[in-house]
Amino acid sequence: MKTVYLSLGSNVGDREQMLRGALDELASPEARIVRVSSIYETEPVGRRSQRWFLNAVAEVQTDLFPVQLLNRIQRIELQLGRKRGVDQGPRLIDIDILFFGSFVIRTERLATPHPRAEERRFVLAPMAELAPEYRHPVSHRTMRELLGGLSGQEARKVLPPSWYTPVE
Ligand code: ADP
Ligand code: MG
Repeated sequence: MKTVYLSLGSNVGDREQMLRGALDELASPEARIVRVSSIYETEPVGRRSQRWFLNAVAEVQTDLFPVQLLNRIQRIELQLGRKRGVDQGPRLIDIDILFFGSFVIRTERLATPHPRAEERRFVLAPMAELAPEYRHPVSHRTMRELLGGLSGQEARKVLPPSWYTPVE
């Protein structure tokens, strides 16, 4: 079993329902949702003139291989209606593998730790809430330290972790 952290984000439609739907689809004996962070409303990075995102992080226990988990999350993105569109543009749902145990993977299809995790408040704010002392497998800095080093990018908590109840 590996502990995996997934980032969830949505800025189109019923954003909260998109995050919930993603976790409901993912939850299974092979991918158990252990805990979720609060939901944060965050300023879009890159293209600024779009709706703000809702973001959260989920801690998952899995014995899937990394590519199997990636396949699964990509299928869920499609099921929830995601279309491939403008890069960094509006999205119904985006699910990224932030950390997969202490694995360091750099392939065409999958890069984990996620290459931009360390510079994004919408990742680090919920990560630091769930696992402040968790160390980045490459830089070895804790989530708390990484978050403390950021400036700019607004993120405000809009719902407590009780927004999602993992089913056993
Ligand atoms: P974004 O980088 O904004 O999340 P997409 O969600 O459209 O963009 O993903 C683009 C590609 O990123 C996917 O086809 C996937 O193969 C690849 N990818 C690489 N690393 C990861 C990761 N850690 N988690 C999810 N997708 C990843
Ligand atoms: Mg993605």
